[in-house]
Amino acid sequence: AEAPRFAVFGHPIAHSLSPRIHEAFAAQLGIRLEYATIDAEPARFEAAVRQFFAEGGVGANVTLPHKHAAFAMADEHTEAARRTGVANTLTRLPDGRIKAHNTDGGGFVRDITERGGFDLRGHDALLLGAGGAAKAVAWALMDAGVQSLTIVNRTPERADEVADAIGEPARCHTRYWDGLEGECFDLIVNATSIGVTGGGFDLPMSIVQDHSTAYDLCYGASAAEFKGWAVAAGVRPDWFRDGLGMLVEQAADAFEAWHGQRPDTDPVYRELRQRY
Ligand code: NDP
Repeated sequence: AEAPRFAVFGHPIAHSLSPRIHEAFAAQLGIRLEYATIDAEPARFEAAVRQFFAEGGVGANVTLPHKHAAFAMADEHTEAARRTGVANTLTRLPDGRIKAHNTDGGGFVRDITERGGFDLRGHDALLLGAGGAAKAVAWALMDAGVQSLTIVNRTPERADEVADAIGEPARCHTRYWDGLEGECFDLIVNATSIGVTGGGFDLPMSIVQDHSTAYDLCYGASAAEFKGWAVAAGVRPDWFRDGLGMLVEQAADAFEAWHGQRPDTDPVYRELRQRY
């Protein structure tokens, strides 16, 4: 029989690490699969996914810029997907309907707490960004028990929408990007795409304290700009984390949803870490 087929959809997608991660998990657990990368322009995304599933595809990961469209085309949604309105994982159910998951938030929290040893409970967190990834991270930080969550975004209305959806004004609120003077945070998370598109982090350095941790959802060269800002502002270089661990952890959740088995993420993370 043919190996079950999976794919990641994005635009662009050529440099995605997802095939390598899923193939490594599969090898570890003795599971057969094929994992492709499919570059779909936004206008063709839904049709491309439907074709993939019609031809026997079992599951799809979804990345920029398709995560909202992935949510919208699904028939069923996990709680994590429903809260954010974005999906990074699609599964074809036995009856042909499509189920949307969002594993980004869980992947972020597992990476920072279990791999990074950072206990989120009781800490004050600042989240930069209000896009798809930021929404997932915001809910996950709240679930993980941060004392407060402050969200800033270039387009402030989008930050307000995230905070309104969370609906806990005593713990989660927004500020203007240039309104952070006089505040300080234990954790500063970059969930913008500034590292990819360019732009710069014009934030007051006083928001960093001696013990602050900085986390960039980007990894590799795209994390250089935020790391540069964070270290200049006083974050100890080894208290900076990039998003490679989150990438591996969100993949593990998708893998478990599809295969019913949990891979050991550490060897896969360590292998990728040597190169990124
Ligand atoms: P979106 O396009 O949904 O959101 C982009 C965010 O970045 C918005 O908040 C946007 O602000 C902000 N932004 C973009 N350019 C600028 C700029 N020049 N100045 C200030 N703000 C800017 O992207 P995603 O949320 O899907 O992804 C965000 C980042 O996270 C990407 O770099 C992605 O690679 C990374 N990521 C990493 C993952 C991992 O596993 N490690 C998982 C998911 C994402 P505005 O609202 O004003 O446009």
